Amino acid sequence: MQIAQNTVVSLEYTLTNDAGEVLDTSRDAEPLVYIHGQSQIISGLENALAGRATGDAFKIRLEARDAYGERDDDLMQTAQRAQFGGEDPVVGLQVRTDGPEGTQILTIVAVDGDDVTLDGNHPLAGVPLTFDVKVVGVRAATKQELSHGHAHGSGGHDH
Ligand code: ZN
Repeated sequence: MQIAQNTVVSLEYTLTNDAGEVLDTSRDAEPLVYIHGQSQIISGLENALAGRATGDAFKIRLEARDAYGERDDDLMQTAQRAQFGGEDPVVGLQVRTDGPEGTQILTIVAVDGDDVTLDGNHPLAGVPLTFDVKVVGVRAATKQELSHGHAHGSGGHDH
């Protein structure tokens, strides 16, 4: 079976940057499972998977715009230490905020006295990424999976 709209795909993958550093991998873990055609994974990888079948392995390098997007300096913001409710703001810590545009994950990138600088960009924004991928399963999604918007079973939701 080939990967097409509304198939459930299982993938083994290793993600590296241009320096060859491994940023993420499914090695020693469950394969990644997603429903194809529903923007559940980044667009550049999803497009490269269309038409592939179980056993296919390939490597693809994606520019940042096809992966987690370019960096947007407008997503940088400053806050005051007191806004952290007694928690010590530490560089690298991620905080969750609920704003008008929904939940946002911000990363603390600098702390200068009482001034805390936060970055709302995805940690991989602006980074070209190389995916080394192997397709380990393709099957049709069930009606229930499509109505829930996620895959069930091994590697998917269990409920
Ligand atoms: Zn479900």
